[in-house]
Amino acid sequence: MPKYALLIDYEYCTGCQSCEVACKEEHDFPVGKWGIRVLDDGPWQKDDANDQGSSFNWNKIAVPTDLCDLCARRLENNREPACVHNCLAACMRFGTIEEMAAELAKKPKQVMWAPTE
Ligand code: SF4
Ligand code: SF4
Repeated sequence: MPKYALLIDYEYCTGCQSCEVACKEEHDFPVGKWGIRVLDDGPWQKDDANDQGSSFNWNKIAVPTDLCDLCARRLENNREPACVHNCLAACMRFGTIEEMAAELAKKPKQVMWAPTE
């Protein structure tokens, strides 16, 4: 079982892609390989006549790939993951599964992610 996870609060993700770039530079991934990608879903109109909020769905969300190792090398040096450190919206966090799950329970529009081991 994984011990650590990323928590991404996509309500505040701006789609700036700093996490993508920081991860790529940290791991020196070649062209075409990524440790994290920012996906863009929308805008598309919600099909709900009773919708009280925004009438459009438009979420940008950073999703780690199979190449994410949670920045193991940085963690050995007591540094937080490169994506977390460089997220311009400060909407990414790193911690134990338990810590991140506790944060996840506090608000909606967040996702928790753990790597394969
Ligand atoms: S934790 Fe490290 S390897 Fe994983 S997405 Fe973030 S920067 Fe990339
Ligand atoms: S750096 Fe942060 S705000 Fe920018 S795309 Fe990545 S998760 Fe979103």
